[in-house]
Amino acid sequence: MSANSLPEGATVWHSLEVDKALDLLDSNADNGLTPQEVEQRLQKYGPNELEEQGGRSAWEILLDQFKNIMLLMLIAVAIISGGLDLVAWQGGTLKPGEVPFKDTIAIMAIVILNGILGYVQESRAEQALAALKKLSSPLVRVIRDRKLLDVAAKEIVPGDVMLLEAGVQIAADGRLIEQSNLQVRESALTGEAEAVNKQATLQLPEDTSLGDRINVVYQGTEVVQGRGKVLVTNTGMKTELGKIATLLQSVESEPTPLQQRMTQLGNVLVSGSLILVAIVVIGGVIQARGFSNLQELLEVSLSMAVAVVPEGLPAVITVTLALGTQRMVKQNALIRKLPAVETLGSVTTICSDKTGTLTQNKMVVQSVYTNNSTFRVTGQGYAPTGDFQLNEQKIAVEEYPEISALLVACAVCNDSVLQKEAGEWAILGDPTEGALMTLAGKAGIEKDQWESKLPRVSEFPFSSERKRMSVISQVKAVATGDASGTDIDPAIAGFLQSEQYLMFTKGSPELILARCSQLYLGRHAAPLTEAQRQQILAENDQMASKGLRVLGFAYKPFSEIPPEGSDETSEQELVWLGLVGMLDAPRPEVRAAVQECREAGIRPVMITGDHQLTAKAIASDLGIAEEGARVLTGQELQRMDDEELKQNVDLVSIYARVSPEHKLRIVKALQARGRFVAMTGDGVNDAPALKQADIGIAMGITGTDVSKEASDMVLLDDNFATIVSATKEGRVVYTNIRRFIKYILGSNIGEVLTIAAAPLIGLGGVPLTPLQILWMNLVTDGLPALALAVEPPEPDVMKRPPFSPRESIFARGLGAYMVRIGIVFAIISIALMAWAYNHTHTPGYQGDPDSWKTMVFTTLCIAQMGHAIAIRSNNQLTIEMNPLSNKFVLGAVVVTTILQLMLVYVPPLRAFFGTHFINGTELAICIGFSALMFVWVELEKIFFRVMGKKAV
Ligand code: ATP
Repeated sequence: MSANSLPEGATVWHSLEVDKALDLLDSNADNGLTPQEVEQRLQKYGPNELEEQGGRSAWEILLDQFKNIMLLMLIAVAIISGGLDLVAWQGGTLKPGEVPFKDTIAIMAIVILNGILGYVQESRAEQALAALKKLSSPLVRVIRDRKLLDVAAKEIVPGDVMLLEAGVQIAADGRLIEQSNLQVRESALTGEAEAVNKQATLQLPEDTSLGDRINVVYQGTEVVQGRGKVLVTNTGMKTELGKIATLLQSVESEPTPLQQRMTQLGNVLVSGSLILVAIVVIGGVIQARGFSNLQELLEVSLSMAVAVVPEGLPAVITVTLALGTQRMVKQNALIRKLPAVETLGSVTTICSDKTGTLTQNKMVVQSVYTNNSTFRVTGQGYAPTGDFQLNEQKIAVEEYPEISALLVACAVCNDSVLQKEAGEWAILGDPTEGALMTLAGKAGIEKDQWESKLPRVSEFPFSSERKRMSVISQVKAVATGDASGTDIDPAIAGFLQSEQYLMFTKGSPELILARCSQLYLGRHAAPLTEAQRQQILAENDQMASKGLRVLGFAYKPFSEIPPEGSDETSEQELVWLGLVGMLDAPRPEVRAAVQECREAGIRPVMITGDHQLTAKAIASDLGIAEEGARVLTGQELQRMDDEELKQNVDLVSIYARVSPEHKLRIVKALQARGRFVAMTGDGVNDAPALKQADIGIAMGITGTDVSKEASDMVLLDDNFATIVSATKEGRVVYTNIRRFIKYILGSNIGEVLTIAAAPLIGLGGVPLTPLQILWMNLVTDGLPALALAVEPPEPDVMKRPPFSPRESIFARGLGAYMVRIGIVFAIISIALMAWAYNHTHTPGYQGDPDSWKTMVFTTLCIAQMGHAIAIRSNNQLTIEMNPLSNKFVLGAVVVTTILQLMLVYVPPLRAFFGTHFINGTELAICIGFSALMFVWVELEKIFFRVMGKKAV
């Protein structure tokens, strides 16, 4: 887009100097805005939000409900039934008292009702998802009133000073104030996949195209690397992204695998019922040797078509998934993509990061190793109070200049902020760095004070691939050449030499040590001997095998600032300072969660950037590393090709010193072995692995925006145990879905067979009208099915292996159960039907001869109630279960039975639904027959138990 096409009056920020831009927006790069200014600007510019677009409109959602083949079939039934009534009405053959078109109107009403119900459920689900999205909406780090703050993205206003770091999704458009190695991926806006290097200092011509404006950043783009400080210029719909009005965080409403399977099921049911109708009609015609009973056969066909459709099922499924999502969020697992709810239960392997997920991410330095001595550090948490001890004796740090030098490196080569919040010491930033700040503070070395002595002029930032970072500082006293140059702090006097710049580097000890050629001895540096190198590595292993996270430190003097991007060459020939070992205790709840995983046939795998010994110590402590479990390092993995990795991937429980790209290979190798993989990640470069994993899991607290965008689920508490709870919830959801599908479809099969049997065994008339069937499918099946959807987990839910997500819905005996139960159901109701028909047709019968139909109707409904109670558990007998553990089933059974009786005993309802009065004895007989259904299901459970099999 050229500048000319910018809306009139828009300031062309990229053509301005930073100071001019700050002036125009009345802001200050160091202090930011005051709360009052923020408030006023929020009033003036509105919240920083994009208007929702891209989702389906209400009408579209409503219309979509009627695209369902089963509802279309019902509409066809309504039309044909209307046609039949029209013929009867005009021909004067209507039965006395019968209202024409009642079935048609009722079916259409129920079709519309079903459509509206589906609509309400779906739009609720969409709203719930949108609300969940909001929960995960990113925080933005800003400077306001001279303080660093994290605020919600929607509260950002023009003039705010926003800080960027790797992994951030930029919340608003802005002019760069300063930057360091900043690379931004702008594909959301420009379609260009390659990240762009940004430069704050430039001033660009007005007509620079969007993709070339390297001194500004745009909302919705992602920081791939480096850091930056930005003056917010435009927010909300005024941003470039707002202008092209694409919504990045649009609600995802993709159909879940289950919904897709349901569509297929609909097709099977509809075609199956059409075939059955054909058989009944042909059979009926052959039996009557002509078309004399065509009218009756047509009515039977219409009823069968209605009976086969599980009208209530779609709504029950939607509700179940929505409830599952809500239960998961209560347990801190935020679902971003609905299919994850039902597929979580199929996870076979959980690949988890170590830091923060398995451990607490509250780091406390315990050991410091410099110049051949190991010092113990006391103190807890982030409070900078504690002692340094050598051989159990407290020491004065000033007497050990090599420690002071190391501590200066800790404070200077550090991006975190240690501050007191509500009387408690807390850190803003990476806990690893926070612990180093606390460590330095224990010796009185504070970042603020050292920032003026050694102001940062450049840096080579940390990344999980590099596993190290460097900060280049100007040595102020020497640089100015003033008298204080001789009075330089003893902490660094020994390594100043005459250079003007110092680089401090910290990171993975092996890596840093390999880049060192000298060793700092407290007053001067000396060449590093091989023996010393081995000694340091041995100490590193020693600390790591205790589960400590160990960092190595080094420095290097420079006479000039090393150029950006020269990290590989500049971070060489370093002078070794020492090791720092910090404890990051395992999360106490994880041990039980790991145990639960094992019992549930899920294999936990640790994937960490940390040292193999640290990883192994923590994995053993948590039970992740079983006897003989293999540890594979990133280096070893690098040497393997994909095939070799695939051969080994099932044996390895710990991957150490890996980079994000290794994670992608690990997921692929596991998937190639047929595993269903959940994978955690937090960094910007974890996104591809999260996308590839079957369930990508991002960290809610420490995760970058980019990793969250790529994930299916976000852990609000970053906790491994939450993944296990969510998996359990997924299993419960899937089991309950299978349970009510069994329930509903078993009943439909029973109904269809009963209706089909009536003409074939030579009874006159159709036992159930379409209206009654609709009632049964929607209400008597629907309510208990909904109640079954909230059935609490069975005790063994996490004691059995996971089921394949690719299995058919009818797998593991579900199809057979449905057919078997359908047949039993039909036998019971056909037996009752035969008895009732004879009973009502015996000479001298006082009641309505058609009341046999109502007896069949009542038996079908009440038998289903028994089925609902019995089907609550696959294996436990009903008497073994707590009847109150699912009050909804009891409630649904009571309410439905009352409603059913009202249909028979309340005259207006009786007239409307076309039922007939049945007396107490007849009702008791119906109930007796119905009870057989309950007895049958219970007997099945006993049979399976005796046979030593587990039912499904
Ligand atoms: P996990 O992958 O389980 O979260 P991790 O935190 O060790 O483990 P990374 O954050 O990728 O993984 O870090 C990899 C390594 O880089 C660490 O083991 C450590 O040696 C080093 N490292 C971590 N943080 C920093 C930092 N702020 N500065 C320098 N080096 C660091």
